[in-house]
Amino acid sequence: MRRVRLYRVSSVVVRQRDLGEADRVLMLYTRERGKLSAVAKGIRRPRSKLAGSLQLFSHASVQLAAGRSLEVVTQARALDTFYDLRSDMERFAHSSYAAELLDALTDEGMADSVLFGLLLSTLAALHSGGDAPTLIRAFELKLLTRLGYGPELDACTSCGGEMDGREQGFSVVQGGVLCGTCGSAAGGARLSTAGLQALRELRHTDTETVAGRRLSASARDELERLMRAFVDSHLDRPLRSSAFLAQEGLDKS
Ligand SMILES: [Zn+2]
Repeated sequence: MRRVRLYRVSSVVVRQRDLGEADRVLMLYTRERGKLSAVAKGIRRPRSKLAGSLQLFSHASVQLAAGRSLEVVTQARALDTFYDLRSDMERFAHSSYAAELLDALTDEGMADSVLFGLLLSTLAALHSGGDAPTLIRAFELKLLTRLGYGPELDACTSCGGEMDGREQGFSVVQGGVLCGTCGSAAGGARLSTAGLQALRELRHTDTETVAGRRLSASARDELERLMRAFVDSHLDRPLRSSAFLAQEGLDKS
């Protein structure tokens, strides 16, 4: 008989789809192994032992059996089910966006405990009622920066000069800020001094601290527009959750 290799991971369910009569294929983002797909057998049956611990966005300690194509979940223990992320439409929409963005920008099997911590702390902060637009902007900035796609916020992306604190711009194509001189010539969008400050702060402030903050209405609108265009430039196709956020006006709430 073939010996099955078992191992345990700390994971968050970032995507799921039904399989057959009672199973589900889960996309897990794990601390130890990055993103991986696993089958949860019988999870849709009424008395499934896995169901409570492996809902969308749940944080769980999961035991997996290495399979030929997909891993198989053999045990799961909930560490935090983040119930309110599924019961509240606004929090659900923002959590979906965070999970979908991480999923879209990462490949399977690339472990990164920093990204795992970022996802978990962002979901926890959304769950405990932190300001969603502020948390999501911080999440985008930290995620893109960690993956090496972060916007340049210190030196002008056109001439390399220091930002002089005058009228400045932001160029999605150039990947960051433009100084006052280049801003008008290079045709980027205008970026206010408060907006630039907010971008720098959100990138460097830990999620627990960001959770207690709320962007001003003008900074929120400005950063939302700018980051949406910047994030889109790194995606092959638009995210389903971002269309939903825009349609419901939740990105403005
Ligand atoms: Zn310049």
